Amino acid sequence: MMKKIVNTARQAFATGKTRSLDFRIQQLQALKTMIVENDAEIKEALKADLHKNDCSAYSYEMMGLIAEIDLCIDNLYDWAAPQHVKKTLMTLGDEVYINYEPLGVVLVIGAWNYPLVVCLQPVVGAIAAGNAVVIKPSEVSEHTAKALEKFIPRYLDKELYPVVNGGVAETTELLAERFDHIFYTGNTNVGKIIMTAAAKFLTPVTLELGGKSPCYVDKDCDIDIASRRIAWGKFVNCGQTCIAPDYILCDKSIQGKLIEKMKESLKEYYGDNPKESPDYERIINKRHFNRVLNLLKGEKVAIGGEHDESTCYIAPTVLTDVKPEAKVMQEEIFGPLLPIINVKDVDEAIQFINKGEKPLALYAFANNKKVIKKMISQTSSGGVTGNDVFMHFTVAELPFGGVGHSGMGAYHGKHSFDTFSHKRSCLIKSLSMEGVNKLRYPPYSQKKVDWAKFILLGKMNKKKLCLMLLPLVAVVAAVVLKMI
Ligand code: NAD
Repeated sequence: MMKKIVNTARQAFATGKTRSLDFRIQQLQALKTMIVENDAEIKEALKADLHKNDCSAYSYEMMGLIAEIDLCIDNLYDWAAPQHVKKTLMTLGDEVYINYEPLGVVLVIGAWNYPLVVCLQPVVGAIAAGNAVVIKPSEVSEHTAKALEKFIPRYLDKELYPVVNGGVAETTELLAERFDHIFYTGNTNVGKIIMTAAAKFLTPVTLELGGKSPCYVDKDCDIDIASRRIAWGKFVNCGQTCIAPDYILCDKSIQGKLIEKMKESLKEYYGDNPKESPDYERIINKRHFNRVLNLLKGEKVAIGGEHDESTCYIAPTVLTDVKPEAKVMQEEIFGPLLPIINVKDVDEAIQFINKGEKPLALYAFANNKKVIKKMISQTSSGGVTGNDVFMHFTVAELPFGGVGHSGMGAYHGKHSFDTFSHKRSCLIKSLSMEGVNKLRYPPYSQKKVDWAKFILLGKMNKKKLCLMLLPLVAVVAAVVLKMI
């Protein structure tokens, strides 16, 4: 069955219809219409999967997707235009440019935590770049997966953009097929399975993975603001956000104030009992509920800790005096637990971070920008936000992706278009100036080598010559070379 789906997509791609930019724009427009026209049912699905209310479903999933579609539609003609590159003396009379070409049939595998946007945002880039796309939503967020399977074929070309639902068995079957690119979002262990399957066909991959994203809070910072921003970023979507601050690093002397301020913020966001709040989400399923709860065992709870298995509820929870060896520090938490680890200063925080795998995101709060710059220059991560959380993710001009164990490749805006395009080097040679070409034809001589050096290596000479003089030099060179 998977073979048939992929073959059909390949045949549809081979017709060449996705080469047309107008066709791509029309499909993107249709995707946007799908979201707008089925707003209520999509929100219902997100509520059923993660207890997202209408406002958060729109703000955290639909709005970003619509913005991405609009950005692609508005810029597609610019992005897809041949990009002419700087010429050298050797290519003065030629046409030299980068041509953006679709890769072919790509596979996009989504994760469950933001099941609409995480699945469809890469699809937007893949469509914009002119590919056929096999869309595989996460089976864990089953309601959203079903909604996508129902709506997408009603709006998009069915052959070019099939939706495949299913779990490990179906994904494994899909991965046995040949794709021209695989874009996977999910955990690092499955990332390795994806890359292994892709290697069989030398298929390039983009892996959007996770990890433990640290959050350093300097003694000298606005603790009030830091607490508000961290509490929001950690507990939104019940802590199930790939770029959520996983843990806090701070000096013990500010820990008390940080906790007190976070308590205030949580009360403001979710009231006295977050369980009653329409704005607080739930853990996706019992398996993850038990996994997260297991990480809580034996830890000192400063805020929260309440839980209820029947509704997969875990309160926003802050843990203090957590040891680096603790269970909660051995894996990405991906739930509403926020451990605080004590470090005495930024240097110790940097050392701590560098002992672990490179994270997807890194956060640092400090009044002194130099502290943040130091953190950036002495660590590595997919992205960084200073004095806030998440915000680098929202800038379409910034590539979003991981590094090392947090992933490879990036997307968002033009970066998505690039990820799903082949940058083809194109040179159309002029038939004149054959004299210059003599340099590469035998018989060879020292004079030819000297001229080649002048033309090819003369970077500083070239800088000195103004562009107006270049054609003149080329003509002189051609004449001289003709005489050699
Ligand atoms: P998940 O369980 O939904 O898995 C992701 C996808 O992998 C699903 O479509 C699933 O069908 C497929 N899959 C699962 N097991 C497989 C197997 N054995 N073989 C082939 N395919 C398989 O999601 P998850 O992994 O629990 O997602 C959470 C993780 O994803 C976290 O680590 C989080 O940080 C990360 N994440 C990263 C980003 C990002 O943009 N970098 C975004 C969201 C989530």
